[in-house]
Order: sequence, then C-alpha cells, then structure tokens
Amino acid sequence: MSADTPLVKEPDAQAGPAATAGELIRFDRVTKRFGDHTVLDRLDFSVDAGKHVTLIGPSGSGKTTILRLLMTLAEPDEGTITVAGQQLFPAGEKQIREIRKNIGMVFQQFNLFPNMKVLRNITEAPVTVLGLSKDEAEQRARELLDLVGLSDHLDKYPGQLSGGQQQRVAIARALAMRPQVLLLDEVTSALDPELVAGVLDVLRDIARTTDITMLCVTHEMNFARDISDEVLMFDSGRVIEAGSPEKIFSTPEHTRTREFLSAVL
Ligand code: ADP
Repeated sequence: MSADTPLVKEPDAQAGPAATAGELIRFDRVTKRFGDHTVLDRLDFSVDAGKHVTLIGPSGSGKTTILRLLMTLAEPDEGTITVAGQQLFPAGEKQIREIRKNIGMVFQQFNLFPNMKVLRNITEAPVTVLGLSKDEAEQRARELLDLVGLSDHLDKYPGQLSGGQQQRVAIARALAMRPQVLLLDEVTSALDPELVAGVLDVLRDIARTTDITMLCVTHEMNFARDISDEVLMFDSGRVIEAGSPEKIFSTPEHTRTREFLSAVL
C-alpha cells in the first residue's frame, strides 16, 4: 500500500466472496452472557458498508459489548457475527490479527502510548503491523493530524495535550490503519465539556468526507442525529427500535425509546 492511496479504503475493497451486496457487518442471533446475566439476547442487526450507525440506549443495555465482540475482545456464547463475509468466531490468532487490522476502535479513555510522541503513536502500528516504511507511515500520519487539526502537535507527548487533543490523536491513530470499520465507544464521555465539541466536529468531518463504516455508541444525541444513517435503540440486549435519526428522535414508536430520549435530551 503506498502513501498516496486515499485516506480511507473503498468500503467494499476487502469484502469476501460471501458478503451480501452492501452488507459489511451482520449479527445473527448473538447471545452474550456474563455469568447468569444475559447481556445480548439473540441479537440480530446488520450494517451496510459506508453507513454510519449509532447505538443508543440505557447504560448496561449491551452497546459496548457489541463493539467489543466486533473487535474480538470478547466472544459470543451463541450466534454468529460476520464482517465482510468472514465469520469472526471461532477466531484463531492469525484471524484475530486480520480482523483488528480491518477494524479501528476508539475508546472512552484514549489509550495512547504515553512514552511515544504523537507522530510515533500514529505510525507505530502501520509500520509494525502493515509493514509501511517509516516515511510512508509519517506522511500518512501528517495527513491525518491535519484532518484532526493537530499538525502543530506531532512532536509532543500525549501528557502534554488536553484530553480532547489526545482523543483526536486516538482517532487519527485508528484511521492510520485504513480500517474498513471505525468503532467509537463513547469517545467524548471522559472529556471536560468544553473539549467535546472539537472531537465531535472531527468525527462529523470524517463521516462527511470518507467512506468509512462507522458504528458509534454515544450519549451525544445531536451528534447522533447529524452523522447517522440509522439509529438503533437498545434495551436489555436487543434492538427494540431502529430507523433514521429523523424517525427515532422525532417520532419514536416504542415507550422505552421515548422514556430514554426524554431522559437524555
Ligand atoms: P452499555 O455499553 O450499553 O452501557 P455494556 O455492554 O458495557 O453496556 O454492559 C452490559 C452489561 O454487561 C452490564 O451489566 C455490564 O456490567 C456487563 N458486563 C460487561 N462486560 C462485562 C464483563 N467483562 N464481566 C462481567 N459483566 C460485564
């Protein structure tokens, strides 16, 4: 892969032969339990390539667990999860490496390498995992730092940046792998309120200007309304209502959705 390929791959570039047209992610009757607590209960949903899907719902309804399953950080007890036509589980080490190359995740806590400068935080995985040359990786990192508005900070350590700036570096770091899918897990909830808008603006830009498929857990309902093609409302480990942001936010049908929205809006 050369440094002048686009920032983000075409959505179907890695779709396997079994992928249905357009469909990138599919959960089929996925159940996940922790002890006797059923967190996901025969969950079905799918996401088409290039779409931005937001998961909303009360705390504890299983949203983060979905992202962790996709990242192969946890395994389902039942059901199948398919990404680009490839079934994720059971996953061997090699397959897990491939999956994680193709799926970028940004966490609530930024998880940057504290002992590496910003530029190196972003170039590390492209060099070690993708085998890019240092020059290629640095060129890509500079483009991404420009995208997240941090070109002047590439020589700093994470500890010298605000939380919002660190989160923007974490977003650039995830994109540096050119994943097909970007998973965002409440990426602004650890930030001071005045830093939230800067991070959400960067994500709005990414949603608008790239082809990346986004799966996003957020409590920022205005942001969800802006970027989403589809909003999935979760309750007790199931999707209880799904639709366009217009439908979910303006004319929710389910009582639980109405209750949830009136509590958070
Ligand atoms: P949400 O993101 O909707 O807040 P989560 O997916 O984080 O929900 O969690 C759903 C439920 O699963 C919660 O009750 C949580 O305590 C439980 N849970 C999540 N991860 C673990 C774990 N590793 N061990 C035990 N329980 C867990």
